[in-house]
Amino acid sequence: MMNREKYSRQILFPPIGADGQEKLLESKVMILGCGALGTAQANALARAGVGTLRLVDRDFVEESNLQRQILYDEADARERMPKAIAAARKLKQINSEIRVEGVVEDVDNRNIEKLVSGSQVILDATDNFEARYLLNEVSVKLALPWVYGAVVASYGMTMTILPGSTACLACLFPSPPEGAHDTCDTVGVIGPAVAWVAAIQVTEALKILLGHHQELHGGMLAYDIWKNRFQEVRPRRDPQCRVCGAREFAYLSRTGPMHTSLCGRDSVQIHAAASRQLNLAELKARLEQFGRVRANEFLLIFSVDAYELTIFSDGRAIVKGTHDPAVARSVYAKYIGA
Ligand SMILES: [Zn+2]
Repeated sequence: MMNREKYSRQILFPPIGADGQEKLLESKVMILGCGALGTAQANALARAGVGTLRLVDRDFVEESNLQRQILYDEADARERMPKAIAAARKLKQINSEIRVEGVVEDVDNRNIEKLVSGSQVILDATDNFEARYLLNEVSVKLALPWVYGAVVASYGMTMTILPGSTACLACLFPSPPEGAHDTCDTVGVIGPAVAWVAAIQVTEALKILLGHHQELHGGMLAYDIWKNRFQEVRPRRDPQCRVCGAREFAYLSRTGPMHTSLCGRDSVQIHAAASRQLNLAELKARLEQFGRVRANEFLLIFSVDAYELTIFSDGRAIVKGTHDPAVARSVYAKYIGA
């Protein structure tokens, strides 16, 4: 028997009610990214009793995350827990009635369709345009709603995409911004700005799950919570849109060699050329000849020369100590193998 007392205050809220609560308990949401936005979204949805949450993140917890990534603590940072695992553990303590699945993967065009399958809505908590364009394409392709969200400094933006009825991300921004742009790694971010965006994203998700589509805000909302500037635009669908008009899925269908991506903080991420399963215990024993190795059950941290490699069991690694993909690739090849 499900414990209804836990949800009594939101059952009293008429748009949810007892029937709505049942619906939420049977709902499934995917959260893409477990940083500041993702942890705020997951916290709210777990407490609201959304029955199944899938959390996907490629990264591990660091001390500089704790100021705004609300599901982590100092022990998670000390142990370098993968964010998806640390978040899932915390959520199970918050609400033991729901299912939480933590997936430690870097989302790309090879795994995104599998990762979104079964979810009724996807919440964007990524930190880069490439992942959002990929998410937008998979959403249009599979007719899955998603809620865009982005925060930098004290400024946040959000928009809800219902394929077939609203504009999609590419209607509004046909291509990613060119050149350098501000990120949380360059101009910082404050927790309240994150909380504002996450609150709207979560509310929109609840409306979608409960079928209250007429109550969605229908705009692109932007708010600078420090400068007190609010903006709202009403995006229109672009009939010429390459994604929702022409249904061309350039990001989804892209193929290429082993790719690397910069992820801020003087680091480069390296993907294994083909999917592989590393034996971390064996690798640890081998790497100990060359430098210091620490491990938890999900990853290895290997320090050698000026570099620090965090190696996941699927062969992915984050190489700290360089911005240069060529340098990172050669360090990777030297110690882990091409
Ligand atoms: Zn579009």
